[in-house]
Amino acid sequence: MPRFLVVLDADSTLLEDEVIELLADHAGTRPQVQAVTERAMRGEIDFAESLRERVATLAGLPADVTARAQEAVRVTRGADELVRGVHAAGGTVGVVSGGFHEVLDPFAERLGLDHCRANRLEVVDGVLTGRVLGEVVDAHAKAAALHEWAGADGVGAAHTVAVGDGANDLEMMRVAALSVAFDAKPRVRAEADVAVVDRDLSPVLAALGLRG
Ligand SMILES: [Mg+2]
Repeated sequence: MPRFLVVLDADSTLLEDEVIELLADHAGTRPQVQAVTERAMRGEIDFAESLRERVATLAGLPADVTARAQEAVRVTRGADELVRGVHAAGGTVGVVSGGFHEVLDPFAERLGLDHCRANRLEVVDGVLTGRVLGEVVDAHAKAAALHEWAGADGVGAAHTVAVGDGANDLEMMRVAALSVAFDAKPRVRAEADVAVVDRDLSPVLAALGLRG
């Protein structure tokens, strides 16, 4: 089997939750953040703009709120099995997220992921400013990460796989050789090569021809 790369979205794919909503719980802004997230995931509004809008509601929270959000996050069933199966077959796994390194990194490390890219929250004097640092990881950045990691891992474009649930995953799903919609929005399911409907990542192995 040639080398291959699997790139996963984080929020509502590798993770059961939308991390921004867990953070918003601490600011008391979950209802408005959730409404914006829904619209962004359906592709109704620009992702980068929507992220800035949602992060702005977090301004003033202590920076360690990310640690508390991290305790609340649940990894999706089957994630371990998927990562182990891909590694056993000689593949590599990355996660790319419109969420945040501060929350995602420990999961990426624990799962033994090969690549991880997300946004960073700006902190001044121990407090979230309500802004993200640098360029927002949007749909375009997700597709760029897939390209970049394939190059770094010596994987040809024909051996790339993208797994996601939301509209901002569509661009990386289009550039990947195989796209998997995971418990996805209808628009995403319609465009994907394969759809996984249960919230269990292990069937992705079967889509890769590694099981079943
Ligand atoms: Mg998602």
